[in-house]
Amino acid sequence: MLPKQFDELKLTGSLPTPTGVGLAILRVTGAEDYSVQELAQVLAADPGLTGRILRLANSAAVAGREPVTTVEQAAMRLGVRVIRNVALGFTLVSSNRAGPCEGFDYDAYWCHSLASAVCAQVLSAHYPDVDAADAFTGALLAGIGQLALASIHPDAFTEVLRKAEGRGRDELLALEQTAFELNHVELSVAMLRDWGLPEELVSAVGEYEAYCPEGASRAGGVDPLTDLLWCAATLATGLLRAGGLEGGLWHVGEEGVETVRERLLLDEPAFLELCGTATEGWREWGGLLQVDVPEDVDREELIRRARELRSEGRFDDMLEAKPTAPRGKPLHILAVDDDRVALRLLVRYLTHEGHSVVTARDGEEALAVALEVAPDLILTDWMMPKMDGIELCRALRRTEVGRRIVLLVLTGQDQEDQIVEAFDAGADDYVVKPFIPKVLMARVRAAQRVIELREQVELDKAEKTKQVAKMAVLNRKLRSAALTDPLTGVPNRRFATRCLEQEVAQAHRSDSALSVIMVDIDHFKRVNDDYGHDIGDVVLCETAAILRRNTRRGDVICRLGGEEFLVICRGSDLDESALFAERLRAAVERHGIQSGGFDGSVTVSMGVAALSETGGTVDDLLKTSDRRVYIAKALGRNRVVADEGRQPDALSA
Ligand code: GH3
Ligand code: MG
Ligand code: MG
Repeated sequence: MLPKQFDELKLTGSLPTPTGVGLAILRVTGAEDYSVQELAQVLAADPGLTGRILRLANSAAVAGREPVTTVEQAAMRLGVRVIRNVALGFTLVSSNRAGPCEGFDYDAYWCHSLASAVCAQVLSAHYPDVDAADAFTGALLAGIGQLALASIHPDAFTEVLRKAEGRGRDELLALEQTAFELNHVELSVAMLRDWGLPEELVSAVGEYEAYCPEGASRAGGVDPLTDLLWCAATLATGLLRAGGLEGGLWHVGEEGVETVRERLLLDEPAFLELCGTATEGWREWGGLLQVDVPEDVDREELIRRARELRSEGRFDDMLEAKPTAPRGKPLHILAVDDDRVALRLLVRYLTHEGHSVVTARDGEEALAVALEVAPDLILTDWMMPKMDGIELCRALRRTEVGRRIVLLVLTGQDQEDQIVEAFDAGADDYVVKPFIPKVLMARVRAAQRVIELREQVELDKAEKTKQVAKMAVLNRKLRSAALTDPLTGVPNRRFATRCLEQEVAQAHRSDSALSVIMVDIDHFKRVNDDYGHDIGDVVLCETAAILRRNTRRGDVICRLGGEEFLVICRGSDLDESALFAERLRAAVERHGIQSGGFDGSVTVSMGVAALSETGGTVDDLLKTSDRRVYIAKALGRNRVVADEGRQPDALSA
């Protein structure tokens, strides 16, 4: 700000300042290496202040211990920052309780400032990076520029306030500018800087009035002190009105109270409790600094009115609407940000859209959570302690779980290099901070579409695999159907031929025995003729079953066609197979069949042939065994022929 004008103002001697003791305390506590003794020495110069500090140290807020009697003890108990607050507040209030400016309500000003200070102190519990005492001091002094204007230019400021009545803050600032060539915000900043307050606090005081938590700046990149000061001033206005007093000279109205509640993610009972704590503190400090605080503060009324004002649409906000059903599949999202305020907002927006959200406060925590819960999507801040957003992306992309997660990175404005780095690290998309909620949600929906598509592809793939498996089964079935005789269920001629080819080759390779038994049912035509084709089928099936039941392990029984069967005997020579054939023949003859009018048994004629005695081919085997069946028939049927040489008579017969 304008140092020249400020220096001039200082020279007038009419700027409100803490008394010498107050300034001395600011100086002492501003130094890195102050000592409690030093502080006590300064305080001793002002008995009124010392008394108040002792009173506070022994008050209910810090009760339950031995009473303190010295400033040193009080400083130890309260902490030096609290001592500073008392000193500043007391010395400022006592010398500025009233003034010459008619249009300026000094009581309302102090009442509001004190309420803001206490609210800030209470709210600071929700802002992990903000010190409670800093919050108190900042809020107490945030409006000092107005007090200063009232002190320096009592008449002109009265005029300004009269003209600005019922108008917005911008008009007030413009009127101040015209009248004084500076406005109360600039003046506040210059004064606090002059008093040596921490720079973060000074800049937050310069920002908070224009701060709009409903706008795009709310999430991401929000300065917590600025946010806190806005919330504190808003809540203070609400408490003042709930106590039957007009608010301060603030643009911030109680409409925003509902916003404060939402920003803290508190339900109404919890918020009422917070208001209660603030009201008690307000009263306690009021007594300490001799500021009048309303007796009854109807906190429920405060909330009711805030909600009413809200519903009039003065504070339209997407959060006011009921949670909407998600437009796509609800996602499981991990939101990562070290800024608790920004994180809460992120969670609010996402859950509002129907997604389920888990959170992490830094990259390391995020990595652990991500690997455990495998979220669909991660929304991560860039700058974080321990592990930043980019390292998180890289680490995740190295893992199996992490490769499947859609990664959205929040980056600062105009940081093209960062964005390129983010994509290189494996990010899928980015959102510029401070983000515009609508844009963020659009990005999330785009991610949602990617996730849904991927899931569809995976489903299709699984379906395809299932189809392939089905086809394989079908193929196997078809293949076996092609090689199985449908009537009897035993392998068919095609199978018999293939099997024999393999067995012949194998027998040659391993020089092992192989023989076959050709089986033909005797007078089968008669069965058909006498009992019908269906009964003929039953007899075929029964015969096949009897043959199968009596074959040995390793033997294969096939139906060659009609009423002819073939038994392939692996590893058996002619004599072994002849003996075996005889057992089979007897079994068939013994087996009674009852079906329809048929009651009896059939007999079979068999020809046995071995690989060793033939030319050594499949064809030789089949022809020889067939010829021997023919011999068996000629010999009277129901018999086994294994050696044509032994049946010369029958053949010639
Ligand atoms: P042989 O003792 O000389 O073998 O006399 P056969 O009557 O058994 O021999 P033939 O070759 O003259 O007759 C076979 C009959 O088998 C002819 C055919 O109608 C019948 N047949 C062939 N396949 C089937 C079938 O699947 N079901 C039925 N029921 N009969 C069949
Ligand atoms: Mg026959
Ligand atoms: Mg036949």
